[in-house]
Amino acid sequence: MSNFDIIKEQDKTYVANTYGRFDVAVKEGKGAICVDFDGKEYVDFSSGIGVNSLGFCDEGWVEAVTKQLNTLQHISNLYYTEPCSKVAKLLCERTGMKKVFFSNSGAESNEGAIKCARKYSFEKYGEGRSKIVTLQNSFHGRTVTTLAATGQDVFHNYFYPFTEGFVYTPANDKEALEKALSDDVCGLVMELIQGEGGVMPLEPDFVKYAEKLCNERDIVLIIDEVQTGVGRTGELFAFQNYGIKPDVVSCAKGIGGGLPLGCVMFGEKTEFTLKAGDHATTFGGNPVATAGAEYILNRMNGEFLGEVKAKGDYIREKVLKMPHVEGVDGMGLMLGIRLTDGVKSADIVKKGIENGALLLTAKAKVRLLPPLSITYAEIDRGLAALEKALESF
Ligand SMILES: *Cc1c(COP(=O)(O)O)cnc(C)c1O
Repeated sequence: MSNFDIIKEQDKTYVANTYGRFDVAVKEGKGAICVDFDGKEYVDFSSGIGVNSLGFCDEGWVEAVTKQLNTLQHISNLYYTEPCSKVAKLLCERTGMKKVFFSNSGAESNEGAIKCARKYSFEKYGEGRSKIVTLQNSFHGRTVTTLAATGQDVFHNYFYPFTEGFVYTPANDKEALEKALSDDVCGLVMELIQGEGGVMPLEPDFVKYAEKLCNERDIVLIIDEVQTGVGRTGELFAFQNYGIKPDVVSCAKGIGGGLPLGCVMFGEKTEFTLKAGDHATTFGGNPVATAGAEYILNRMNGEFLGEVKAKGDYIREKVLKMPHVEGVDGMGLMLGIRLTDGVKSADIVKKGIENGALLLTAKAKVRLLPPLSITYAEIDRGLAALEKALESF
């Protein structure tokens, strides 16, 4: 048996079968290129679902992480540590947010955001104002509460009873939103580009209106930037493209660059809502993960973010000329390719992987989330594999 066969069999036998895996085991990587156990190379257009912001094993990031690993790997949140305080400062300075709580995943960040909205309202208005409005077709995580927050029926099975108090409203429908944000609502949660829902950017007009209503009604505006955050859209956070001021921003995926890290950022309205004893997590703000995050945030200066936009435009232009492509949605390096002629995104992704490009689906679209540091040569190579996949249908 080959190495790959052994891995596959072990995995199937011993790892809980919760993932439908592609027929590839990735062994190692550098930049946007990774290699499987047979030595076959792939251009990574997925960055581990928006996680490896600087690609595989970026030198500076590895150095920052390794240095911290050899200094202090963990101490509880009962003590101060340097990397987590530095990352919090960087995040606040670059977003206008006021405080940061560190978590370990996207779902966990959203849990913190939801708790904050409920406590903010409870303290100010008392009981009976605990509803959270989210958008139809959204995705907010896999815990019992964030599944409830997720506005897709397919996620509301088996695990009853879900956390109560969630209401869904259609994206980009101002009238429906106005009705949904009733007296008993404490928070509104939105992804500005629905990721899992199919790379669906919200209309700026709708987002501005949502901000206005939340301000007028003292509803906590929570932006879920777990997928859109940390440079993905060409700004450090997607809300900066929309020119709004959220009360809470959740983030995860890209901030750790491949180490588990998430955070919730609180604005002026909510910076003092969660106090000692209200919220905590053992691993949150881990020194090694945050040392890597500090490096990533420092790399993402204006020039780097400008390049993210330029590379996104470059990919878009090339993809639009490919067969079976109707359009390309998204911003920066978060792109969703709309297909024509009944071509299925899952088939393109499967074929693309065979051709040497790791692609993702997002519902009916082919989703591209390349590492933000990808080079133009790597982009061209990946696009050639994608084009070949499209041509075979
Ligand atoms: C991935 C994702 C989550 C969940 O993050 P986990 O780290 O898997 O818990 C939540 N919200 C959005 C928008 C996401 O894309």
